[in-house]
Amino acid sequence: MRLQQRKTNSKSRRFLVNRMPDLTQLTISEALTGLRSRDFSSQELTAAYIQRIEELDPKIHAFITLTPELAFEKAGIADQMLAAEDRELPPLLGLPIAVKDVLCLANVRCTCGSKILENFIPPYTASSVSRLLDAGVVPLGKTNTDEFAMGSSTENSAYGPTRNPWNFEHVPGGSSGGSAAAVAGGMAPAALGTDTGGSVRQPCAFCGTTGIKPTYGRVSRYGLIAYGSSLDTAGVIARNAADTALLFQHMAGFDPLDATSVNTPVPTYQLPDSPDLHGLRIGVPDEYFLQGIQPEVESFVKAAVTQLESQGAVPVPISLPYTEYALPVYYIIAPAEASANLARYDGVRFGPRLGTEEGLQEMFKQTRGQLFGSEVKRRIMLGTYALSAGYYEAFYGKAQKVRTLIKEDFIRAFEDVDVIAAPVAPTTAFKFGQHSDDPLAMYLEDIFTLPANLAGIPGLAFPVGYDKNGLPIGMQLMAPPFKEDLLFRVGHAYQLATEWHNKKPSLPTMDNQLK
Ligand code: GLN
Repeated sequence: MRLQQRKTNSKSRRFLVNRMPDLTQLTISEALTGLRSRDFSSQELTAAYIQRIEELDPKIHAFITLTPELAFEKAGIADQMLAAEDRELPPLLGLPIAVKDVLCLANVRCTCGSKILENFIPPYTASSVSRLLDAGVVPLGKTNTDEFAMGSSTENSAYGPTRNPWNFEHVPGGSSGGSAAAVAGGMAPAALGTDTGGSVRQPCAFCGTTGIKPTYGRVSRYGLIAYGSSLDTAGVIARNAADTALLFQHMAGFDPLDATSVNTPVPTYQLPDSPDLHGLRIGVPDEYFLQGIQPEVESFVKAAVTQLESQGAVPVPISLPYTEYALPVYYIIAPAEASANLARYDGVRFGPRLGTEEGLQEMFKQTRGQLFGSEVKRRIMLGTYALSAGYYEAFYGKAQKVRTLIKEDFIRAFEDVDVIAAPVAPTTAFKFGQHSDDPLAMYLEDIFTLPANLAGIPGLAFPVGYDKNGLPIGMQLMAPPFKEDLLFRVGHAYQLATEWHNKKPSLPTMDNQLK
């Protein structure tokens, strides 16, 4: 399969790609092996993904901005390095990935899914992204998101929603819906996402992908455009736990540019080659199997726990009694922090300026009034109210106290169990518009993901089944702080023994497109 000559014009690229197996179907470890043994070049791999994006993304709309020139430039450099075999090569050299459009990539516009940042071109790169660039990745583009990552469906993006690759009438989840749909649609082998209240895990559940929400402080937030600073984390979405761990390995770690980054060594994520989980204690919290949860979600998540049990794990019923307060606590703390973080988009520091001829107040009003979407405005108002004099203690102060109780629930639980298993979301992917008139119903979709953010603990989401309409069902495993390694091990062991993560939506493949 080794190619003699590598041509760069797109016609010959098409031809070469067509003679090979569909490169977009390879796992990350397969792609890296293929690149190292020079079965194909990084430019060919990149071309295969870009072609797939060109074919599918007009329908799915996972990307806000594509960066093909940058991708081919980086891929070309990677190919030169791969050809000079004598040097030690960066670990992810030549691997294309996608990046959520709230993480800065120098000289590429970063919109945050908002009109107010439509023309914002950051002069620097987020540390999470620059570490991966140092490891050799090739950026394909910036993925769609709910505006400022506020939402659970991508319906709040100012650039239009992303469609779920499993069913175009359903949402992909959010806010990292573009990243999850790009991976599920085979338009990227992995994508970066952010998770403030579930935005990596919930789109993974809705799109059948695997994703890690790290411990708060494990991955740098420098260059992650802030939503709720005490909750924001940057994570990875990929096709399986092993691929997720491969990328996460090179993203995690201390960063002096982020004051909340924690200086704890990052272990080498060793994954088992046999699915034995002997003695692992899995907590199953009562509070996550509520009345009203879609019955198939409950039954498939419970079946996944039984599967883990058959591999040696021991399920332990546990209780996390403060779970019911996570939703109200989050929806005070996150909007409060957002209202402060979004003050900078005022037409002076950031954003275009509207209504300048009518004075300063009017300029602020028009700029923010016209360029923020309605959900962002709702959050700013809720947050400003919760922080206002006279209400601060009753809302924000109280919420912080209850946040501590939620965290203590987990500390207590982890005295008895190693990981906690739960559904990611109470339902599978809902239809566009289903919750549009009812913000509370939308917020309820986050009920099982918010606690991990409030407690700062890591969570891994992965598919454990499909509902009767063929839509994916996700489970999450949560672990004590900095125990991402345990999550990867258990997720990988489960995936060695099951096939759910290998199921793909029926979309046109490269081969049948080119015939
Ligand atoms: N859906 C939640 C919210 O709207 C979480 C979003 C996120 O994690 N960025 O706040």
